[in-house]
Amino acid sequence: MDSAATDATPDDRARRIREEAHRLGFDAIAFARAEPLDVEYARYEEFLKRGAHGRMAFLADDPEARRGVDHKRFVPGARTVICTATRTTAEQGEGVEALIARYARGRDYHNALRRKLRKLARFVMTLGHADEEVVARGYVDAAPMLERAYAARSGLGFIGKNGLCIVPGLGSMVLLGEVVTTLEVRSGTPLEERCGSCTRCLDACPTQAFDAPWVLDPRRCVAYLTIEHTGPFPEELEGRIGAHVFGCDDCQTACPFNAGRATKEPLKESSLVPLPTWRGLTLGDLLRASDDELRVHVDGTPLRRPGAEGLARNAAHVMGNTGSAKDLEELELASRTHRHEVVRDAATRALDRLRARVT
Ligand code: SF4
Ligand code: SF4
Repeated sequence: MDSAATDATPDDRARRIREEAHRLGFDAIAFARAEPLDVEYARYEEFLKRGAHGRMAFLADDPEARRGVDHKRFVPGARTVICTATRTTAEQGEGVEALIARYARGRDYHNALRRKLRKLARFVMTLGHADEEVVARGYVDAAPMLERAYAARSGLGFIGKNGLCIVPGLGSMVLLGEVVTTLEVRSGTPLEERCGSCTRCLDACPTQAFDAPWVLDPRRCVAYLTIEHTGPFPEELEGRIGAHVFGCDDCQTACPFNAGRATKEPLKESSLVPLPTWRGLTLGDLLRASDDELRVHVDGTPLRRPGAEGLARNAAHVMGNTGSAKDLEELELASRTHRHEVVRDAATRALDRLRARVT
């Protein structure tokens, strides 16, 4: 063990972990006390009580872990949550790429981020005093942890009215990841919320999915509908899905904290670089492709989640919302012959909307 490390103070540790995180390719890092969440958890509990998690039943699992009071199964005696942010593309994109949420245009990021968090955790484990056995574990997405709440507590960013963590200088187009550790590290201070009187994200939401600032009803959110929801969309929302085949960034692109983020500066995390395949595809390709052909495109990417059927359904609706007269034939064919009933149904309704617009 590094002798300088064993004598390190909580401040030294914070500095060294910060340096290592930047070396590993994280864009921002901050430290929170690993103590139970209070106000943040009350908000989450209210969200569950309203049933707003829809079919995402996993969000109601393990409430004690989400509240941060039960690290026993994860990291017994945890003192610190190290919060990291990794920048995603902010570019508009082309072709089908522009219809996919920015975080999802590359390869599945979970493995890559998990690997980096594990490396950071291993580094953290070298920083204890000589007689101190430090435990540290990395988490990304999968663990039942209110990661935005810890990010806010750490001062990594503040939670905007769109419910997302806004990191100063980076905006909200970032992925969060954590290392939970028994090591004591100087914790950060929560930032002031900086939205002020702005309501751009709420106004930009195509389905009016916000009941109030910070209060999202995911059942009306395009991201939930196009990724998690199975079966037909609620009829009143089909037209409002707009041009979103997978996910939605509208409440982020409207946010002034994301303005000017679309730079050519290379992403530090290569798995988040948009795949060229999306630029070469059209909505018609997604609608016509067999399940096997679609799998070739989506395997190893976040777009696997809705499955071939869900993606083709989404493509049909987007064609109905944004297509032109030349798409009528394609939709008409899909409405009669597509192998999935939900896609035939989506194409039939999309065809009605398209006809009403272009004929
Ligand atoms: S992701 Fe889209 S649909 Fe969901 S809340 Fe944001 S703007 Fe609304
Ligand atoms: S758009 Fe405005 S209100 Fe919404 S998160 Fe950004 S700054 Fe806050």
